[in-house]
Amino acid sequence: MKNVLITGGAGFLGAHLCERVLAAGNRVICLDNLYTGSKANIEHFLSHPNFQFREWDVCDPLDIEVDEIYNFACPASPPHYQADPVRTMKISVLGALNMLDLAKKYGAKIIQASTSEIYGDPLVHPQTESYWGNVNSIGIRACYDEGKRAAETLFYDYHRQYGVNIRVVRIFNTYGPGMNAEDGRVVSNFIVQALKGEDLTIYGDGSQTRSFCYRDDLVEGIIRLMNAPDEVTFPVNIGNPNEFTVRQLAEIVLELTGSKSQLILLPLPQDDPTQRCPDISRAQDHLAWQPNVELREGILRTIEYFNDQLSNFNRLNRASRVEASA
Ligand code: NAD
Ligand code: UDP
Repeated sequence: MKNVLITGGAGFLGAHLCERVLAAGNRVICLDNLYTGSKANIEHFLSHPNFQFREWDVCDPLDIEVDEIYNFACPASPPHYQADPVRTMKISVLGALNMLDLAKKYGAKIIQASTSEIYGDPLVHPQTESYWGNVNSIGIRACYDEGKRAAETLFYDYHRQYGVNIRVVRIFNTYGPGMNAEDGRVVSNFIVQALKGEDLTIYGDGSQTRSFCYRDDLVEGIIRLMNAPDEVTFPVNIGNPNEFTVRQLAEIVLELTGSKSQLILLPLPQDDPTQRCPDISRAQDHLAWQPNVELREGILRTIEYFNDQLSNFNRLNRASRVEASA
């Protein structure tokens, strides 16, 4: 049984990681300050004897003896990470430093949740890990992109300078059950808008592309990377290489929800990448990993999840109205 620390464990991806790592028979310490995550995401593990939740900010150093660290704490959706950009940069850099110090002290293996954003608005397509990227260092996305790039730098310097056993996963847009309806990312926005009969908000003309990976596929890839042989210290892209325009995504969501919502065009945010698609050859070669859940199947499962969320919300609302009028 290993002691596994998961920072950001109460978030969308972190909570699913907690579930998988617990199910493999390990002890999980979930560290989260609930900035964008929620206790509701980990409610079902709170009474598990091998699960411990610690409300903590990764910017503050801590000392616990662990065997493995998944460093996932960081707001991930553009509206959230841009709301307090200075804090976002601190979370990436100080969080990485604190977790690397812990890994160094206890000889723990550590994996960093990096991102396709480190490629910026890419000039190489699809993106291979050897591509250095095209990031606007002074733009509104830089707090996240450059923060994650600096975290990668720290990981490789701790590896070269102190011999820390590191892994770096570059995560491409991931979606699935457990997303926060208010998160602001495109998949959750479109599905919630369609289910509520509201207009689907396309930013720009919808011709920009993304490649959407289902949550379970992604987490499987991350766990394989953590368990890969020690020489796999190079960055690895994990994502689904099937590329869609944002407009195509909106049309798929309308079709699968059966919604009569309309598509509306809103201004494109500054520095919004025009295309994004992972080259996953490294993950295939070194982890024998590739995604299994295609977009329509994953979107159907996510629609089901948001349908349940909205029904529960409406039921609670009705109950509180009845109570108030009694
Ligand atoms: P999320 O916002 O749902 O989860 C982030 C979690 O980190 C939340 O629980 C939040 O409360 C916690 N957190 C934030 N700041 C913290 C702090 N200072 N101290 C402790 N906890 C803190 O986002 P997610 O989609 O689950 O993303 C998880 C990680 O994966 C992030 O590092 C993100 O950058 C990375 N990532 C995600 C995607 C994606 O598509 N979901 C893509 C690329 C990278
Ligand atoms: N997007 C959109 N409508 C929305 C939310 C996002 O058209 O309601 C677009 C956004 O401009 C971007 C793409 O969808 O081009 C993916 O956005 P998201 O915030 O999910 O992720 P990221 O931009 O970080 O890849």
